[in-house]
Amino acid sequence: KIILGIETSCDDTSFALLKGNPDDLSEKPTLLAHQSFSQELMLQKWGGVVPEIAARNHLEKITPLLDSCFKTAGVKITDVSLIAVTTHPGLLGPLLTGINCAKTLALLHNLPIASVNHLYAHLEAIHLTESVPYPYLGLLVSGGHSLYLKVTSPTSFEILGNTIDDAAGEAFDKGGKLLGLGYPAGKIIDDLAVNGDPKKYTFPISMLDSGDATLSFSGVKTSLRNFIEANPEGSFKMEDVCASYQYAIVEALSRKLKKAQDIAGAHDLPIVVGGGVACNSSLRTTLKNNYKNVHVVAPRFCTDNGAMIANYALRTYHDAISFPECLGLDARGQFVSKKEKLEHQRK
Ligand code: ATP
Ligand code: FE
Repeated sequence: KIILGIETSCDDTSFALLKGNPDDLSEKPTLLAHQSFSQELMLQKWGGVVPEIAARNHLEKITPLLDSCFKTAGVKITDVSLIAVTTHPGLLGPLLTGINCAKTLALLHNLPIASVNHLYAHLEAIHLTESVPYPYLGLLVSGGHSLYLKVTSPTSFEILGNTIDDAAGEAFDKGGKLLGLGYPAGKIIDDLAVNGDPKKYTFPISMLDSGDATLSFSGVKTSLRNFIEANPEGSFKMEDVCASYQYAIVEALSRKLKKAQDIAGAHDLPIVVGGGVACNSSLRTTLKNNYKNVHVVAPRFCTDNGAMIANYALRTYHDAISFPECLGLDARGQFVSKKEKLEHQRK
């Protein structure tokens, strides 16, 4: 079966055509085409994502990217048997552009749609390159989320720990903004940190004594702000500050993983790490040094991409919404507030 994956939940417009066998998931799927456009440069002058502008940029890119995807793969829309689209969570305007693209194609070609949870897709992206058995312990670290999850099947995810404020990616991006490094700052900090001393400065590792797998990254960010106010530009080596700041974030994620294992009641589950922050070189080595059986999603499938959306739909193929019911699909399930996040955690 060929699945078209559509991702527009934030600032990446991405399409993929993935060929796979939904009735035998041990067969590795084949990525026939994968085309993305990142709005990073366009959004740089705003210092972050402006939802309205991001949605308009998606609209401009959808048709050329889709055309190019089909040309590269050498297939036609009539060869596609399922359209997969991110429906939640994400920014409403950007999500709706992708959902409306999916509905238009479904209407024209009588196709079913798979409504994909973007977060589950981030973790399950591991199966694009390797097969990891269930249950596994997932660490999802992205621009908007930091979650420890116990994953028992492609559709059953139990939250073991969450952040009470900023996400890890947000800590990188906002820290980078304070340091004047540009947006998004995760990769910039990662690259600078390679030549810095992580022990040069001490930034706080939050919630170490909370006894659970709860994370918090607002304190480390405030402490960076205080550091910058107390130390004028030029009085410190940027590489050292980046390495020390990154160290605090990575240590928090690594140490709390042990707590997540305690809560899961199992210390031998495979560990899967996904989401944009899973590209971080220090996080990858730290987790591999401290834990056994660590599987990190390949960097090209860590940040938002259409391949992970198609892949998730392949793994949940029979849950797709058939035509014409799929035309009623909407964006849903967005984690909008801290309160909602906590409620979700309790469930
Ligand atoms: P969500 O998935 O929670 O909706 P998102 O889709 O915006 O959020 P992703 O695309 O998964 O997030 O990841 C983007 C984040 O990953 C950004 O915060 C970016 O700074 C971070 N990131 C990317 N590369 C690195 C890196 N090498 N080190 C640290 N962070 C990184
Ligand atoms: Fe994402």
